[in-house]
Amino acid sequence: MPTSRYGRVLLVGLVLLTAVALWQTRDGTPALALVNAHPQRVMGTDCTLVAAVAPGDIARAQKALEAAEAVIRDVEARMSVYVEASELSRLNRAVAGENVPLTADTLGVLRIARDAASKTAGAFDATCPPVLLLWKDAGERGKRPSEDALSAAREATGWTRFELTSSGAQKKMADARLDLGGIAKGHAIDRTVGALKKANVKAGLVEIGGDVRVFGPGPKGQGWAVHLRHPFRKGSCGTIELQDAAVCTSGSYQRFTEIEGQRYSHIIDPRTARPVQDVPSVTVVAPDCITADIWATALSVLGPEGLEKLAAIDGLEALLITGRPEDFAIHQTPGFARLLRDPLRLE
Ligand code: ADP
Ligand code: MG
Repeated sequence: MPTSRYGRVLLVGLVLLTAVALWQTRDGTPALALVNAHPQRVMGTDCTLVAAVAPGDIARAQKALEAAEAVIRDVEARMSVYVEASELSRLNRAVAGENVPLTADTLGVLRIARDAASKTAGAFDATCPPVLLLWKDAGERGKRPSEDALSAAREATGWTRFELTSSGAQKKMADARLDLGGIAKGHAIDRTVGALKKANVKAGLVEIGGDVRVFGPGPKGQGWAVHLRHPFRKGSCGTIELQDAAVCTSGSYQRFTEIEGQRYSHIIDPRTARPVQDVPSVTVVAPDCITADIWATALSVLGPEGLEKLAAIDGLEALLITGRPEDFAIHQTPGFARLLRDPLRLE
């Protein structure tokens, strides 16, 4: 495996969508091959898969990456609200009291989502579609929702509207809906890392839409360098070094709706039924990606006060940027500051 002696990257091949880069030792012998794939249109975004293997294992790594891509597409097919035949869409269409059978994978994610609602004091709530739909409709009409519509949407959310059984789920009210948009990517990344490890890939990286998990030693033998997206403009505002960990970013700078001249985030506060404001970027590091995904969304809702809750959980670190480009503030856990290679560049 590589040490810090290893030198430049040499791009040696392009097989379909799989590229291979070799890291060389000083004496010129290839030490490690970075086999990477970029599956297209995955969960509505971009994706990068990297397997770091010995040069003799490139063909095996390519096979492992193909299987890894299939895992991500499987999660999407089961859990996306944009896929009509998904298990989640079937549950959303069900009538009250109907028992909808679910696979263990989907049921497992629903249980984690339900637990997350209590762990985050209601900030992460996968039962929030009535509120999401209200704001989507408001965006299309270009008019903010009325107070009555906001309280009706808030009333229509909550886990008391669902029952999870040992083999499926039931809606208690006809208008109850679920959305796993704030958690499915993290879960897909975790499952994909699991699949790569099972295929005997000892080190690699899985990234979907900017959310990342790395495992094993990085190409230079220590951690993997992960760039943090700048909250206010293109490019990066810093680099963290990660080993066997995940990092997720939620941000209103990327996805928002404009109504009556004001920008509204795609993340809503389930407690007020309003989109979150003034938290342009939240980055969370966790041992696994589903946890990082949940907390990145939850801290977008809770703001800097949520850092205390997060700090009580082992292995979680976070960076929040609040305010506006002309007047912002940085909040971070001491552990996050230690992961940064250099000071943040936010000017
Ligand atoms: P991104 O999809 O940009 O990575 P997130 O991981 O924060 O961002 O997920 C945002 C998605 O989660 C939204 O598009 C919506 O589907 C859903 N969502 C919005 N607000 C909440 C919330 N408070 N709790 C759970 N899910 C939410
Ligand atoms: Mg999230």
